[in-house]
Amino acid sequence: AKMRVGLLFGGCSGEHEVSIASAQAIARGLGLKSNADKYEVVPVYIRKDGVWVMDAQDVLTSGEPLATDDEPVLVTARIPSEANVDIWFPVLHGPNGEDGTIQGVFELMQMPYVGCGVLASAVGMDKLAMKSAFAQADLPQVKYMEVLRSQVYSNPCVFPKLCDDIEESLGYPCFVKPANLGSSVGIAKATDRQGLEAALDSAASYDRRIIVEAGVVAREVECAILGNDHPKASVIGEISFDADFYDYETKYTSGQAALAIPAPLPAEVVSAIQEQALKAFKAIDGAGLSRVDFFYLEATGEVIINEINTFPGFTATSMYPMLWEASGIAFDQLVDQLIKLGLERSTQFS
Ligand code: ATP
Ligand code: MG
Ligand code: MG
Ligand code: MG
Repeated sequence: AKMRVGLLFGGCSGEHEVSIASAQAIARGLGLKSNADKYEVVPVYIRKDGVWVMDAQDVLTSGEPLATDDEPVLVTARIPSEANVDIWFPVLHGPNGEDGTIQGVFELMQMPYVGCGVLASAVGMDKLAMKSAFAQADLPQVKYMEVLRSQVYSNPCVFPKLCDDIEESLGYPCFVKPANLGSSVGIAKATDRQGLEAALDSAASYDRRIIVEAGVVAREVECAILGNDHPKASVIGEISFDADFYDYETKYTSGQAALAIPAPLPAEVVSAIQEQALKAFKAIDGAGLSRVDFFYLEATGEVIINEINTFPGFTATSMYPMLWEASGIAFDQLVDQLIKLGLERSTQFS
């Protein structure tokens, strides 16, 4: 009998649409070549309001999000046991999916799933916790500060002092980010006091936890990781674009960003990036997959880690699968390997 793969997609996240696109590609990959004889896709969609929708083939086919009710509704965590699947493939980006919450549901239900576990997902999603883990592993990073929403929404004496502190220790430009998000949602580059105040206010609307980082001028390079206890690093990819930084629009408007795979880099820089990417994956206790993002300062040869994504964009033209394609693992082989790693993890980690 074929293995039933529960493809879980959509989700209560600013990256809902990206998740649908990733799920479409993965469903296609599971229906390709030898996979078609092995796997049966069971599509389960999570609406933006948290409602789980079984037999969601229509959403997968159309690529369009389903409408939500006005009434708030509860997540139906009972469904995972009713779907009768052999392994779950959580194709979810951002909060409520890439952050350990859904992984916790699968752990509780003792069901195998693809990708990182609870700890790696949670640490990878929260940029402040992530940076602490990276610092512990001696990975070079930009200077940063932690800010809480309550400091931004505080009385008029605290906020100016906070901005003074940021200006003094980080200066301009600086990047203000909600700690738990992705796809550059809620991120702003501040170049002056007014911009900093607006950026903090905006980030605080997305998350209780905020990170402010010193800005660097650098090339942006990424490395893909695949594996459990013996992870492998892919070739390196580079992103180039005309925009001020790699924001949401640049990421998802076709033609705005160009990928170079493999990136034109000296061999020793490639090795340094791969080594740091593996260190970062181990630092958060990663499993299955991750994409690690870096800044490369050409003038000094420095490689600075930016972040890790435990469930990176996964469309046919996304960096993660393209890096593996260029490293000798085709899309259909990649999803097959990820399922095998998920099954392996469920026996090794329990
Ligand atoms: P992803 O979609 O990769 O999950 P994200 O929302 O987690 O993205 P980051 O990767 O942290 O966000 O930042 C998004 C982009 O903002 C970077 O690719 C880069 O262009 C710019 N950026 C972020 N931090 C800095 C920094 N400290 N200095 C310069 N540019 C930065
Ligand atoms: Mg990210
Ligand atoms: Mg991300
Ligand atoms: Mg990134």
